[in-house]
Order: sequence, then C-alpha cells, then structure tokens
Amino acid sequence: MPPSRPSRVLLVFLDGVGIGPADAERNPFARARLPSLRRLLGGRLPVADDLDADGKILGGAMVLVAADATMGVAGTPQSGTGQTALLTGRNTAVEYGRHFGPWVPTGLRDLLAAENLLTRAVQAGGTAAFANAYPVASIAADPRIFRRPAAPPLAARAAGVLTRDLPELARGEAVASSITHERWREHTGDALPDITAAEAGRRLARIAAGADVTLFAHYDTDHAGHRGAMEGAIAALEKVDAFLGGLADALPADALLVVSSDHGNVEDATGGHTLNPVPVLAMGPGSGELAARARAITDVAPALLQMLGMER
Ligand SMILES: [Zn+2]
Repeated sequence: MPPSRPSRVLLVFLDGVGIGPADAERNPFARARLPSLRRLLGGRLPVADDLDADGKILGGAMVLVAADATMGVAGTPQSGTGQTALLTGRNTAVEYGRHFGPWVPTGLRDLLAAENLLTRAVQAGGTAAFANAYPVASIAADPRIFRRPAAPPLAARAAGVLTRDLPELARGEAVASSITHERWREHTGDALPDITAAEAGRRLARIAAGADVTLFAHYDTDHAGHRGAMEGAIAALEKVDAFLGGLADALPADALLVVSSDHGNVEDATGGHTLNPVPVLAMGPGSGELAARARAITDVAPALLQMLGMER
C-alpha cells in the first residue's frame, strides 16, 4: 500500500494553462502529441470534453480537477493576482480589488512574502526549495531587475531559497524556467550542455527529494498563448508533456506532485487570457484528497500545507 499522506510536495506552476473545449481550430491540447499526459490520465487529456460531471478526470496514475481561477471577481484573471492566490491560498483578486498582472502588484507583495507555501514551510521548521535557475547574482548587482517580479521568485526570496543560478544549473542542481536550456545558452553557448525536457523532469524529481516543499515555475505556456499561434502553442505543450513524463517516472514515492496554473490562455490559440478553469493535476500520496478539495486555485496551498502538518 502506498502511503496516504505525502511527506513532501512538489508544486509545478505552469503559467497560462486552462481547460477549454477540445476544438482543434482553437485548442492546441486537441492537436498536440501528448503521450505522457494521455498515459498518466488514463487515456484522457486536460480538455473540457474529457472531464466527468464533477469536472474531474479520475482513475489514472494522475488525477485532474478543473479549478476556478476567477476568484469570483469580474474581469479576466491575471498573473500577479493569480500566482499569488495559488501560492498563498488567499483570494488576492478580492483583497486587491481586481485582477492584476503580469507582475505582482506592490500592494500584494508583503502578503505573498508572508503567506506563500515556501515561507510557511520554513516557518514551520521544514525545508523549502525553489528549483528554478534564476539570475541571482545579477539581481544582487542591480536590484532594479527585480522591480516587476513574478510571484514564484518573490516567494522564494522571502523564504530565503532564491539561491539557484547558472553554476547550479550547470551542475544539474537546478532547472531552467524554459525546461530546456536554449535561453541560457544564448548567454553561455556550449559552456552549458543542453538537456532534454524528459531529463529536466527527472532532474526536478531529484531536487524535490531533498526538501519538504519544492516549487518550480514555467512561463512559456503563457507566452505561447499570447503569441496566438497554434504551432508555437503545440510546441510549448509537447515540451511540457515530455517534462511531466520524465518527472512522473522519477517522482519520489513519498512526494505529492501538483501541477497547476494561474489563469487560462494557451488552450485558446486565438490569443489572450481566458475565463476557463485551470487544471489541478495531482499524483502520489494525497492526490485523491487534493482532488476532493481543490475547487479553486485558492484551495491548493492550504490543502498542501495541511497535508504536511504545516497549517497555522
Ligand atoms: Zn499568468
């Protein structure tokens, strides 16, 4: 029998991934080759047509719940408020008064710093990790680079774990935000070996084995959505699929893997954020409990902290 409670969690944040109708004219999920997701979800995919009456996909190695990203506030969900809600469990659209993005507004940064699940893991006496390679040394030299931050590095900095940079990436102890290394290699050239998406997934699994709470953030899915081109969106999803396949195959047995997003975008290649629900994918001990509780993006962080015994 596998354990029913996780002893560690790994949250993979994918920017701008919603669940839309399986319309091949609009939705790259209906066109892309996604063998890993299909295998893990028992033959189904994160499209509205494949959900059961409760908005779920159950029965595979991985479960999926369609979670509300609107927070009950009018307007289109945005990254700053959405990411902060996912990482803290707070209804940031209500607290801020509206959806805001793409960066975290100044008025929510203290809340994010204090309430995000990395900070709370550390405060509870546990360990946290931010698996992304980030230009930490450049920020130390010029803090203005950090003026308009995404929520994941801001949360990591608050928790004291914004530490992985190019040396860690080169040693296999970090994962590039883009999963593969092409963007870093624009600066490093052949000094940094390339990596397949599947190997990057296995690397993330190894990193997650070393902390109670690990966060990894990937943004290219949102960028592909904003470009509004089907081919780029398909390529972005196929990279994520290979990454999740490698990650799932190497996931530590005591780890709960959760993959989620801040708002829809890439699932509608006509471009721009959507009002669609976002997937909460879960695999490992506690995945069934999370699937029962995650009705909205604000439910994820509190459920994870409670399962780890780290709630306040
Ligand atoms: Zn976003």
